[in-house]
Amino acid sequence: MLRPMKETTAKKRTWAEPYKIKMVELLRMTTREERLEAIRGAGYNTFLTRSRDVYIDLLTDSGTSAMSDRQWAGMMLGDEAYSGSENFYNLESVVQEYYGYKYLVPTHQGRGAEHLMSQILIKDGDHVPGNMYFTTTRLHQELAGGKFVDVIVDEAHDSASHFPFKGNVDLAKLDALVQEVGADRVPYLSLEGNVNMAGGQPFSMANLRELRAYCDKHGIPIMLDATRTIENAWFIREREEGYADKSVREILREICDMTDGCTMSAKKDALVNIGGFFCCNDDDVFRKAQNLVVVYEGLHTYGGLAGRDMEAMAQGIREATTEEHMAARVGQVYYLGRKLEDAGIPIVEPIGSHAIFIDARRFLPHIDQDDYPAQALAAEFFIEAGIRTMERGNVSAGRDPVTGENRHPKLELVRLTIPRRVYTQAHMDVVAEAVADVYARRDEIRGLKMVYEPEYLRFFQARFEPLS
Ligand SMILES: *Cc1c(COP(=O)(O)O)cnc(C)c1O
Repeated sequence: MLRPMKETTAKKRTWAEPYKIKMVELLRMTTREERLEAIRGAGYNTFLTRSRDVYIDLLTDSGTSAMSDRQWAGMMLGDEAYSGSENFYNLESVVQEYYGYKYLVPTHQGRGAEHLMSQILIKDGDHVPGNMYFTTTRLHQELAGGKFVDVIVDEAHDSASHFPFKGNVDLAKLDALVQEVGADRVPYLSLEGNVNMAGGQPFSMANLRELRAYCDKHGIPIMLDATRTIENAWFIREREEGYADKSVREILREICDMTDGCTMSAKKDALVNIGGFFCCNDDDVFRKAQNLVVVYEGLHTYGGLAGRDMEAMAQGIREATTEEHMAARVGQVYYLGRKLEDAGIPIVEPIGSHAIFIDARRFLPHIDQDDYPAQALAAEFFIEAGIRTMERGNVSAGRDPVTGENRHPKLELVRLTIPRRVYTQAHMDVVAEAVADVYARRDEIRGLKMVYEPEYLRFFQARFEPLS
């Protein structure tokens, strides 16, 4: 059975960091006027603000981790050879050991791997089921001629549901798709660990086992988005019956062993500032990926990375899979989440591993979804205290390619993403105080209108103006 959430990350005393600080990065403090001018200049889009105007940067946990002294030492061991770099072989053996796949193709980051996999596996008119979309993943599926079909459990779309495995696939939804289009039009099941867009929510091992059996029956491979699967493994240990005594490493292997390959953004779990990879067990898929990577990323032994980047990644995987790291990582996110809950802020439950998601619909019920409440709220947090967050709602979801209408996702969220090993508990206190201050004046906040809309992944570069 589920163990009470309070225990999950604090088995000993507290979640204190398993490291000490050796070097610090100084921050520039700004005034409210400076921040107002900055957000206006950025078209009310936090992606367009400058890092120098930010005090606490919760935009993303992607590539923002603090590397360890050992990772930096690894950077000095970079073998910058065009071909056959020693660091590639180190990375390959670490990935084979920790993730367990047979073949590795490095890429410059996650979307490079998604590009290769989509082009190789998807044919025009295919349907790709997945446990909720991710922006770049779905785009690459569509660019390869596929159509993404959401088969995540309904609980994932309900921000108030406390279901512990909101990342699970609903087998009935998957089966309905397979019955409708036929298994031969389903090139693979796209399975994401700790589903980002659902709030960092895990799938369970029981669900994966059922999926494996179903997919075996229908000849459908399971391709894992391994980006945050170490964090998924942690939650399985904390929440799922039968896993309390297993290590994060063992659970990670068990997950990977039940899937046929993966794409990975190493900028998340793996504690590096740049990097990614594609893995598979199939000889033919591997040969195709090795060939295609040369076209888009670089030779198959560096895939767009420097030798030193691969060395830092190999060491990052070793560190990320330790129990101490994960306890502090998730512990810090829970610390902030509980503070916000105590202040009465509407957040997605249960708290995920990498971020706190504030429910902008419940925070700003007076703003219509087409006036982009989450976008407006993210701008307010920046103005209030220089806290940079990101919209995950109507802007991120984009337009339906057929109707051209906004997709109007059920979840209209602001993501407060915690970089790994970067901020202190006092920074988390400042964030909680600032969010509570904005909540106290929420009635004054107005919606936004979009005045510039780029064609692809519009949330990155769209510009807005406040509604009068
Ligand atoms: C970040 C991310 C990606 C894309 O990876 P990049 O390294 O940003 O290209 C894919 N899937 C998930 C779940 C992610 O969080």
